[in-house]
Amino acid sequence: MTLDKNWFSEEQAGMGSAFSLKITAKLDEVQTPFQHIEIYDTETYGKLMIIDGCYMVTSRDNFLYHEMMTHPSLFTHANPKRVLIIGGGDCGTLKEVLKHDSIERAWQVDIDEQVTRMAEKYFPELCESNDDPRAELLFEDGVKWIQDAEAGSLDLIIVDSTDPVGPAEGLFTEAFYRDCHRALGANGMLVQQSESPLYHLQLLKDMHQAMRNAGFADSKTLHYPQPSYPSGWWSAIMAAKQSLPAFREDDARNKSFKTRYYNADIHKAALTQPEFCREAGL
Ligand code: SAM
Repeated sequence: MTLDKNWFSEEQAGMGSAFSLKITAKLDEVQTPFQHIEIYDTETYGKLMIIDGCYMVTSRDNFLYHEMMTHPSLFTHANPKRVLIIGGGDCGTLKEVLKHDSIERAWQVDIDEQVTRMAEKYFPELCESNDDPRAELLFEDGVKWIQDAEAGSLDLIIVDSTDPVGPAEGLFTEAFYRDCHRALGANGMLVQQSESPLYHLQLLKDMHQAMRNAGFADSKTLHYPQPSYPSGWWSAIMAAKQSLPAFREDDARNKSFKTRYYNADIHKAALTQPEFCREAGL
């Protein structure tokens, strides 16, 4: 990461590439027991949150990620009621989950309370649903929280974490997926941000394999744009204990809430695999 004149650049480890935004002001900074959080104002992307030198959230492009980390799985599960979000401290994923009327409870378990406090101050538009009576915000390690979760108590687990290093490393393991499998009901689903198909293809392959080894019978890769993340091409893996149910296309086409990226056609397109991903078995 370099702060060259008025630019914040995230150099993408080992990729010989970087992403930079022109900065107009540094607004805040905190070193927590878990990570280093910085907040900037930018010339064209609104506010910017950096965690440990990595682009995390911008006002301009976070909708792509938050909509695609939630609506494809919520319109695939037959009747999602009880949702766990691990990570998601900026609260944008929680906001999208709670747009679904079927949701009865949504727990958000983020290891670092400071991420949420910073989001409340600098990204209030992502925190609009934090006071929804169905929501509960907890500040714990998701790796440990899921170990204590009651068997069969969840319909959907969304892992909206940082990269598989540091505090999030344990969220990308077969042991963690086994704990998720146990906590999910019979028709339970798991969706996890799975980095860049262009830069991290081996990680995606390993994640699919670890989920299958942990007992998930089915798993598919979702693709979507995310300009401020490495390569600008991001993904999520959607897995199910049984085979993934049929997409509830009519429900998606007649959804009662607004989105800016997600729709039924995007849903289907996101599950279409490019040739190199198909060859990799994604
Ligand atoms: N959209 C981002 C991405 O794809 O990299 C993720 C955004 S969200 C801010 C990532 C969150 O994961 C952070 O708030 C961080 O505190 C949280 N996190 C990392 N490791 C965790 C763990 N073991 N348990 C719970 N939350 C964790």
